[in-house]
Amino acid sequence: MLGANTARIGVLTRLEIFARDGSTLGDRTAEPEIAAALVRPDALKVSARWVKLKRYPPFKNTRDEFESHFPDWVNQQLPATGKVALSANAQIRMLGAAFPEEWQWSKESDELEFRDEWVFVLESRQPGGLRRHTYRPFRLGKEHTFARNPSLAALDSKRVTVVGLGALGSPIALGLARAGVGALVLLDHDIVETGNAQRGAFDILAAGTLKTEEMRRRILSVNPYAQISIVNGPWGGIHTDGSTVEDLDEVWKIVSSSDLIVAAVASYETSLDLQMVAIEQRIPLLYTDVVQGAWGGRAFLYRPGLTGCLGCLYALLATTPEMSPVASPEPEVLPANCVAPTFTGSGFDIESVATIAVRLAVQALVARDDGYPAETANYVVYQAVGTPDAPEIRNWSVVPRPECAVCAAHP
Ligand SMILES: [Zn+2]
Repeated sequence: MLGANTARIGVLTRLEIFARDGSTLGDRTAEPEIAAALVRPDALKVSARWVKLKRYPPFKNTRDEFESHFPDWVNQQLPATGKVALSANAQIRMLGAAFPEEWQWSKESDELEFRDEWVFVLESRQPGGLRRHTYRPFRLGKEHTFARNPSLAALDSKRVTVVGLGALGSPIALGLARAGVGALVLLDHDIVETGNAQRGAFDILAAGTLKTEEMRRRILSVNPYAQISIVNGPWGGIHTDGSTVEDLDEVWKIVSSSDLIVAAVASYETSLDLQMVAIEQRIPLLYTDVVQGAWGGRAFLYRPGLTGCLGCLYALLATTPEMSPVASPEPEVLPANCVAPTFTGSGFDIESVATIAVRLAVQALVARDDGYPAETANYVVYQAVGTPDAPEIRNWSVVPRPECAVCAAHP
């Protein structure tokens, strides 16, 4: 049962179940676990009743209003023999209701199906006066993860490495977890700062904690079944010569076991290193960044052997200016908090790019017959502001260039 409060209020002394007419359906006090609880010296008497409703209970605007109204309202519905009073005798009472809640559309009957939901208000006499707590039980299970997006169910068996948990990488990691990716590897060396509350997936309460550990906590709060591995390190780049990372082999192994690598590191060199892992393992790489001022950004999906590589992309960018998002002309840079300076720019514009990156990542992971439509292009530019047509999304397909040595060596 999930409550607003976890204050300890005592233990059961008697567990009886009554029918609506007040007749006893069963006294479970003799059951071993309950009997054991009864001998506890701090046991208090709890009186509990519930009613089954045919419609929604009379919820109020605020929790306070509801809590002060609901127990007496339930009591009125109970038969005379079953009413529960809060007295010196009964220090705690708990009144609840089961009520029909929309559940799912039935394909057989072509009708909306309902199922019982529950709400309880627990009242206890405390030295400071009467205390009330509302409890709503919720179902939590893996079967609910994809109830709202069945075409993404294949993500549960996928493992994604996200390199860089900055303003762009952190919403991407969270977005992938929400989409249902079953396992995530998180790489970053940085800590959360108070200023990070303005951008990305962190808040002030997390200031001082490692971004990897805070991201793990956040991911588990939206997808408790996700398997999270974290790697903390002074990543100037995962260089292939091992010059900046002592346990490179270990990191290499972790990254290599992924189904997708997301490079959100604002470093082309690091992204090239990650591309080498992608090529070796024949797994896709998603490269993403934003331009100065977060006026725009882009996401690029490299599928080894199928699409052009980062080198092919950058060769195209050199000859096709409209493929690059237009950047703010202001050379505004925040003080360095990573190996490279951080650009200014709004969190909401960066998150728009993150959303595009998550979609492309998901499309790289689900098979074409899973139900979620495949990507139509592997390079997507988002222009948030700064041009007459903004906001605008533009797409290109980056194919292997005949003269690309990387693509030629790994067909
Ligand atoms: Zn290439």
